[in-house]
Amino acid sequence: MNAAFSQFYKRTPEQRLAILAKTLGLSETEQQELQQRADQGDAPLLIENYLTTYQLPEGVAVNFLVNQHEYVVPMVTEEPSVIAAASNGAKQLAQAGGITATVRSRLLTGQVVLSDVRVYASIDDWVALHQNELLEVARQAHPSIVKRGGGPQTIRTRDLGEGFVSIDLTVDVQSAMGANMMNTMLEAIADVIQNKLHHTTLFSILSNAGDQSLATATVSIPVGQLANDFDDAKRVAKRIEQASRIAQLDSMRAVTHNKGIMNGVDAVVLAMGNDWRAIESAAHAFAVTDGQYRGLSQWHLTDNQLTGTLTLPLPIGVVGGATKVLPLVAINQKIAQIKSPEELMMLIVAVGLAQNFAALKALVTSGIQQGHMKMQMRSLAMSVGATAVETPALTQQLMKLSDPNEAQATQLLNQIRE
Ligand code: NDP
Repeated sequence: MNAAFSQFYKRTPEQRLAILAKTLGLSETEQQELQQRADQGDAPLLIENYLTTYQLPEGVAVNFLVNQHEYVVPMVTEEPSVIAAASNGAKQLAQAGGITATVRSRLLTGQVVLSDVRVYASIDDWVALHQNELLEVARQAHPSIVKRGGGPQTIRTRDLGEGFVSIDLTVDVQSAMGANMMNTMLEAIADVIQNKLHHTTLFSILSNAGDQSLATATVSIPVGQLANDFDDAKRVAKRIEQASRIAQLDSMRAVTHNKGIMNGVDAVVLAMGNDWRAIESAAHAFAVTDGQYRGLSQWHLTDNQLTGTLTLPLPIGVVGGATKVLPLVAINQKIAQIKSPEELMMLIVAVGLAQNFAALKALVTSGIQQGHMKMQMRSLAMSVGATAVETPALTQQLMKLSDPNEAQATQLLNQIRE
């Protein structure tokens, strides 16, 4: 190991930058770039070995009508077409009467896992007999959540095979995501298991499965809305239904179908200061519930109505965790006018459905490239160094070419500059 990195975590961001510059040969300009973006506030305290702040663009999607309430949705993403597609999809769904969203349940699950269990029934019986005592231990471990009207709800066991047993705790975490309070409760239960049942635990941690925190969005679009000519509209509806069906049959397609949904979901989750890796893991696990990886949404055509449904596990929070340390989150909550975690869950699943509708419609009509073209060309223009003033003109010129590349973009940019 390079001795320069010894005790790296104890250095200030400036010292770390100097070490990197020296050992990796960063130029003056590169160092300035990193330094300019470094935060003087709380960011250095959020992570280890802080160097700078990596910025992503934030925009707002508009036109969202969810449960007859209009929303402006903050989204953080680097992908050029996501916000345009979300707004466009939302507009068409609003014209159809808007999205209806519901929350089926909002509980967090955690696990205390035991190993080397010889007789599963001995653990199962003991936990069943002591469940009130164990729930009380969990309550005492984090009493403030009980005062807020939440707290531990159920405790039961599952035989995982090969001598492993999971003791599953569900907790009403109120407005928080709840990871830390859950882990505190699980560790308290693990202590009891160790002291009273005399069984060593392997680990205790929340589950990110989120299957007890489900939100569903549905929309019903009159077919005639999908194109000017009714027969064309019916063809579009049929093709959306077929595209959705393929995502149920073919996991290779389902991955891309779901990626399109998560384009919107992740962007809102990030803007709202929540853990998008947890939401991603939960969504993909949910997509494989019956053993085959499938599309998370489904579209059906009946009686000249195209009906779309999306259910997602969304164990998110509107207080605690990063929501209180990232300064933009409170403002984003205000922009979206979010008043509860349930409302945020419903908005996120609605964004996923609108994003999915926009993607499927583009895919089965003009093709995805046409809609993306302007954004892609703008990105290409920027990637070859076009300034904010030069970018619109270069984008226009690139759009006239059939499949422009970096060399052509550079050449055109040089012509503009002549
Ligand atoms: P916190 O530890 O911040 O706990 C929530 C806080 O919000 C508590 O201080 C609580 O107060 C306060 N609070 C205020 N009002 C309410 C309310 N109405 N309902 C509930 N709580 C309220 O965060 P979480 O326990 O939510 O954990 C989330 C964090 O854990 C995230 O940063 C996440 O990234 C991280 N994490 C995630 C893991 C994962 O696997 N996904 C694993 C480990 C951590 P009080 O204390 O008075 O109850």
